[in-house]
Amino acid sequence: MSYFTEYKDVIQEGDLALIWISRDNIKPITIDVTATFNTRYGSFPHKDMIGKKYGSQIAIRTKTNKKFAFIHVLQPTPELWTLSLPHRTQIVYTPDSSYIMQRLNCGPSSTVIEAGTGSGSFSHAFARSVKQLYTFEFHPVRYEQALKEFKDHGLLEENVIITQRDVCANGFTIKKGDLTSVTFSDTEESVDIGANAIFLDLPSPWDAIPHLDEVISHNEKVGLCCFSPCIEQVDKTLEVLEKFGWTNVEMVEIQGKQYESRRQMVRTLDDAMERLKDIKKRKLEGVERRKRQLENLENDDGNIEDEEEKKILEPQPLTEKTKYNPFGKGSRIREGDSNYEWKQVTKMETEVKSHTSYLTFAFKTMNKTRNEEKVGILLASLSK
Ligand code: SAM
Repeated sequence: MSYFTEYKDVIQEGDLALIWISRDNIKPITIDVTATFNTRYGSFPHKDMIGKKYGSQIAIRTKTNKKFAFIHVLQPTPELWTLSLPHRTQIVYTPDSSYIMQRLNCGPSSTVIEAGTGSGSFSHAFARSVKQLYTFEFHPVRYEQALKEFKDHGLLEENVIITQRDVCANGFTIKKGDLTSVTFSDTEESVDIGANAIFLDLPSPWDAIPHLDEVISHNEKVGLCCFSPCIEQVDKTLEVLEKFGWTNVEMVEIQGKQYESRRQMVRTLDDAMERLKDIKKRKLEGVERRKRQLENLENDDGNIEDEEEKKILEPQPLTEKTKYNPFGKGSRIREGDSNYEWKQVTKMETEVKSHTSYLTFAFKTMNKTRNEEKVGILLASLSK
């Protein structure tokens, strides 16, 4: 069973779970009754998670015992995995992977080739949606790490095959004796891939493209996407795509942005004037007070008998706490406080995780002969 494709309700021993600490801090764990998940706020024993529903909030008292610390235990999804996985390479983030899969028409009948596997971020997204994924990685250590990870996540039993291969030098055909997760039967010599979608995240995709004709489906339109950070790479790819008969070529760049909706206090000109007057008044009071303190210290004979002098020398706040400040400092006003006027605004988050590479799409139909029978049926149905 794959933790990424089958949903379950209850957290159980041995599950891969994702611990949501904050939006940019999500950690994968394997539920083990004897283990504890440690954070800087405190420790969460796994046994307290077992039997609870996925999505549950788990609370403990913090180390100082004064407050509570919270985590949420979530079932893995490709989107959450992308945010929490151990990075072995640059990865493809969800804004790109979702767009690419949609453009390549990926669905339950798709057979996809991916190279290279890298950290397996996109592999998890493909695995959830497509019929079969063939992924290729030439780096021996990264291949082993991905192989183990896919096995642990149940992806190899489902629809993922990983092969160690330099696809630029040796293409994509998988044969008996190759370093691959395919198990060949006695009669099989090679895998008939027949891919209808290809994703290349390689430094030189133009060297891999000439090998694709051997492994793509000949009976349907096949989509290809190359993910390249430099425009020079795109240029070289375009040349080879044209040479090898790929058409409908288009280059796209995804610029993911997240908009946050919030309320902003309405500030009038009168508010600004009031605020300026307040600042000036408090500044003058501070200057006067310090002047008086300085004079008193200069005349000091060691005995402070004068009551006024005592009062002046007592520690006191430099300025009186402001009562109303529409500009954010001083007394804090809760967003949306009904005593003030608010307007609805959107704020753009600057930090959205998406790697801005150029996406080059192209399509190819190998067998361009007309199926006269099908065309006849279609024309007949239209003329009715
Ligand atoms: N798309 C992956 C993800 O989302 O995690 C990241 C891919 S990473 C940027 C590129 C990977 O391609 C690296 O792991 C690298 O070892 C592999 N690679 C580079 N050239 C290759 C080649 N000729 N054949 C197979 N893999 C290759």
